[in-house]
Amino acid sequence: MLEVKACALSDVGRSRRRNEDFFAIDEEKGIYLVADGMGGHGHGEVASRLAVAAIGDFLRQSTGRRRWGLGRGSREEGREARLRDAIDVANRKVLRAVERDRSLLGMGTTLVAMLLDGERATIAHVGDSRAYRWRENRLTQLTDDHTWVNEQVSAGNISETQARSHPFKSVVTRALGGAREVEVEVCEVEVAAGDRYLLCSDGLTGMITDERIAEYLRSRSALDEICRALVDEANRAGGRDNITVLILAVAES
Ligand code: CA
Repeated sequence: MLEVKACALSDVGRSRRRNEDFFAIDEEKGIYLVADGMGGHGHGEVASRLAVAAIGDFLRQSTGRRRWGLGRGSREEGREARLRDAIDVANRKVLRAVERDRSLLGMGTTLVAMLLDGERATIAHVGDSRAYRWRENRLTQLTDDHTWVNEQVSAGNISETQARSHPFKSVVTRALGGAREVEVEVCEVEVAAGDRYLLCSDGLTGMITDERIAEYLRSRSALDEICRALVDEANRAGGRDNITVLILAVAES
């Protein structure tokens, strides 16, 4: 049996007035979420909270069911379909909130979600919030940013180095609240004792390198201390955006 411990911390950073990131942990149901809200005249926090709440509710209600009544794939089964449906429902809720209150126009949110079920984890993302795995002394980024800059890197138009300081580096090409159909990217991973997973917003990865992140994940400190240390380092590096980190540690029970 695997035992999972999780801890998260969200911080406003050093230059923003509000924290528009949001996270949720439900250890019993194996739900871990990080969202980074944007736009809508400072109402990004409405989008990120709404999305996190909607996804958490949907996943809790559909846990253990072979069928669930909401969403696009109601006849589909399995974690991936549930997660896709949950995100679909959240996307519609964000869009509906904007329809009801036009002052929210332009708001949206990124999302990275992990749904853990025994030794299997399903990870879904939209936008530039990331998931990493730390395993056997190696850090692997499990998600590919949905950003304009990342697409340019993949197409070979700009280098990774140019991407890091590109003026458009925070332009995301996918978000919840953007269109009626949200394009979700999903991957499945086999979870093993000794693994650590990090879900985070770009306020962390825009400020510190993967090498630094790896050093913290390697640490034997308590998880809450690691969360604090990552946030502190992102703030020391400038803290130009809201910073959210969520860490899972997997052990043999
Ligand atoms: Ca951000």
